[in-house]
Amino acid sequence: MDRWQNRVAVVTGASSGIGEACCKDLVAKGLIVVGLARREERLTQLKKSLPADQQARFHIRKCDVSVEQQVVDTFAWVDETLGGADVLVNNAGILRESEITKANNSADMRAVLDTNVLGFVWCTREIFLSQEKRNVTDGHVVVINSIAGHKIPIVPGLSTNMYAPSKFAVTALVEVLRQEFLQKKTQTKITSISPGAVDTEIIDDKIKANLPDLPLLRSEDIADAVSYCIQTPPNVQIHELTIKPVGEMF
Ligand code: NDP
Repeated sequence: MDRWQNRVAVVTGASSGIGEACCKDLVAKGLIVVGLARREERLTQLKKSLPADQQARFHIRKCDVSVEQQVVDTFAWVDETLGGADVLVNNAGILRESEITKANNSADMRAVLDTNVLGFVWCTREIFLSQEKRNVTDGHVVVINSIAGHKIPIVPGLSTNMYAPSKFAVTALVEVLRQEFLQKKTQTKITSISPGAVDTEIIDDKIKANLPDLPLLRSEDIADAVSYCIQTPPNVQIHELTIKPVGEMF
């Protein structure tokens, strides 16, 4: 991780679960980290929980990634305050309990696409433009995808509704962005990490009741994978990393 010491990483969805674990891990490993989320009080709690020396390297900012202007303003703030970010962990994501065939579901369907797909697009565009302005060509964009971005899991009694399609879009976007980075002659890397079930707030009681024996990963397991992917040598780009808990049946 030597080359990332004191360089800036932005982590979206930092107020719980995988994003929180990534913030803790990256700050502990010497990066300057900006954690974004809508629940500012949770970000403040996370900052307070860190050792004092790490608190100084952890910045928080309220940002709803589904609102394009908030993302633009946030990355402008990172540029002005911290000189710009070189690593982005696109982690913010939501799963709504619904069905495509259910009446009055438009708000839920839109929210999933706006967060999981367009939030990833706005954040990646803004960090790329910032890096281009600063002549940074060795950055890294990571996205927390899902096994549901490659194959639709069958969950008895539940529909993955817009969630699985949003993650399939993430899989496609990673390759589109890889090609754009190549055309723009940057060495900045892009990596999709696709976990199976992780023990976070997104796996609610209803899912647990429907899948009582579901083996679960820990958020820290995914944070480890993010660190592993960003510390690879300059010629190595992990395109897709799938992580399943042992015993997964999907
Ligand atoms: P959590 O629900 O614990 O965390 C989701 C995070 O996303 C929260 O910090 C939440 O913060 C943030 N978030 C949601 N919407 C927005 C928004 N519009 N703008 C900014 N932040 C937002 O779940 P996980 O940690 O599990 O989820 C993280 C990622 O991992 C997601 O992309 C998810 O799809 C993916 N994933 C999770 C799996 C699992 O089994 N847990 C499996 C595979 C992938 P706040 O509400 O404060 O804004």
